[in-house]
Amino acid sequence: MKDIKILVVDDSTVQRNHVVSICEECHIQKNNIAEASNGKIAIDMLKKEKYDLAFVDLEMPVMDGVELVRIIAAEKLVEAVIILSSKDPALILSVGTMAENDGLTVLGTFKKPIQQDYLKTSLIRLSKTKPKIEQTKNKSSLVAEDLLKAIQNKEITLYFQPKLTTKGILLKGVEALARWQHPQHGFISPVEFIEVAERFGLISPLTEYLFELALQQKKDWKNHGLQFHLSFNLSPLSLTEPGLVDKIAERVEYYGLSPQEFVLEITENAIASEVSTAIAALAKLRLKGFKIAIDDYGTGFANAQQLSRVPATELKIDRILVDNVTTKPQQQAILKSTINLAKDLNLVTVAEGVEHFEDFLFLRNLEVDLVQGYYFAKPMNKDQLEKWLQADIINLRKQVNTLS
Ligand code: C2E
Ligand code: CA
Ligand code: CA
Repeated sequence: MKDIKILVVDDSTVQRNHVVSICEECHIQKNNIAEASNGKIAIDMLKKEKYDLAFVDLEMPVMDGVELVRIIAAEKLVEAVIILSSKDPALILSVGTMAENDGLTVLGTFKKPIQQDYLKTSLIRLSKTKPKIEQTKNKSSLVAEDLLKAIQNKEITLYFQPKLTTKGILLKGVEALARWQHPQHGFISPVEFIEVAERFGLISPLTEYLFELALQQKKDWKNHGLQFHLSFNLSPLSLTEPGLVDKIAERVEYYGLSPQEFVLEITENAIASEVSTAIAALAKLRLKGFKIAIDDYGTGFANAQQLSRVPATELKIDRILVDNVTTKPQQQAILKSTINLAKDLNLVTVAEGVEHFEDFLFLRNLEVDLVQGYYFAKPMNKDQLEKWLQADIINLRKQVNTLS
């Protein structure tokens, strides 16, 4: 990351200094950061030397940022850009979409002044997921504007997947999972559109919209006497958003619900990158009474110390460690030590992606608390879930009893 070469294009010295200083805080060497005060100078510099990333301000005299981005894309002058502006998010978004259509990798489109955490997350993306961005570029650029419309038109819905106790197969909670049926492109995976939302500054409206759906559903179930908890996925970017904690708490209170009824899930990688604002937000959420789950454990690089610093209540072991574990001795060792670590840290253990009965037995022997996976139930819409609760769960219990 240290060796990334960056060009900051902005006519305001104050704004350039701000970007340079947060780049330095992200451990980028000062002599790898160059500055340009307008688009023409920027183009000359980009033609003379190779840069990995350019920050482009949209409002500039001489040549505005929109035109600069067009030229950069047409002449392939730089690998990736971050677009900044003080204008409204919809405008920044449309320029970002245009740039991606022109074949540029847009790491982020942000309202000024950019925060350190946003930059950190973007830089991690530059170093780790470049090939993935390349692959999905065309489709994602198509999707960004549609995504904004889909949020406004409420085209995205929530499905729910049961989390069950290993002992007794009781419903402990459900995880809310976003679903988008695009009118032309058909089903689009949340993995794809969440990533687009993160890059195009849409994660906050999307999360707010989905959380509202989750709250309405939770309230409805509670009114019908159904008491299980609800797990909700939070993007690491949302955690760095100022005011998020209070907003979440306020909405929960508005519905007459209690924070204890919610588990907020955050991926292991978000804690491994040690974004301090994110950890602080988690601590505040925990103080308010929300439960916190570390998601996808086993796919990232968090060490035991990083794990212990997060105020979590639950560890979700990724299906990469769970699937077909009975046939993989090496995986068994990792799984056992993970479960022991979680128990030492007083975390509820959840195994994800349980598809086979043998895997379930193995997990039950290791005293994993909860299981989630296709063997028991796929994510379902509200009606399907309610039917599942009336009949299928009882059959499942019988089946597990007979087989064990
Ligand atoms: P996740 O949080 O790890 O969610 C679990 C994923 O595993 C879900 O995929 C679920 O359908 C799938 N799954 C569950 N059991 C099994 C199994 O037995 N076998 C297999 N092969 N897969 C199983 P889904 O719904 O496609 O979601 C993918 C990811 O997208 C989620 O991974 C989560 O990271 C993200 N996501 C989904 N909804 C939201 C959301 O509302 N907000 C945010 N920020 N992220 C979301
Ligand atoms: Ca999750
Ligand atoms: Ca997961």
